Amino acid sequence: VQYALVDLNMVFEEIMPIVESEALLNGIEVELLSKGEFPLVVGDNELLKQVFLNICKNGIEAMGDRGRLQISYHYDESGDRVSINIHDTGPGIPPYIIDKIFDPFYTTKEEGTGLGLSVCQKIVHDIGGQIRVSSKGYGTTFHILLPYL
Ligand code: ADP
Ligand code: MG
Repeated sequence: VQYALVDLNMVFEEIMPIVESEALLNGIEVELLSKGEFPLVVGDNELLKQVFLNICKNGIEAMGDRGRLQISYHYDESGDRVSINIHDTGPGIPPYIIDKIFDPFYTTKEEGTGLGLSVCQKIVHDIGGQIRVSSKGYGTTFHILLPYL
């Protein structure tokens, strides 16, 4: 893949209609909490869309027929990475499975492939980023950390 400058504002502009229509079908509210502008990162536009779309879809799937999906970002303390945070108000991820969710083919869904997060993680690692997840009994937040310009 040939990497280029990717404007995350464009990425979200392109995926929000898809995320919103899927959420709407499930009675879920979506909030894009971006005060100001997302930064530029180096990567591949299509692959980054896939990352955020996959993680948003997982959140929507986890919530069932009500809830709220919130997308925000902040700059981390070191100042060289941006963290895009995707939070859902779903049931959370139990501690005994949280270490497995990035494994290829690990799924708890009847029709799941278990490939979503492993693919997301590879895409993000390949551009020097990292995915962290926090879930404490209720709700889940995925943090996608990316070096930015
Ligand atoms: P799939 O969506 O096909 O199951 P993924 O790799 O996308 O595969 O996700 C793996 C598993 O991680 C899911 O089956 C689910 O158990 C768990 N998971 C991922 N995101 C969430 C979330 N937001 N809330 C609860 N569980 C989640
Ligand atoms: Mg998935």
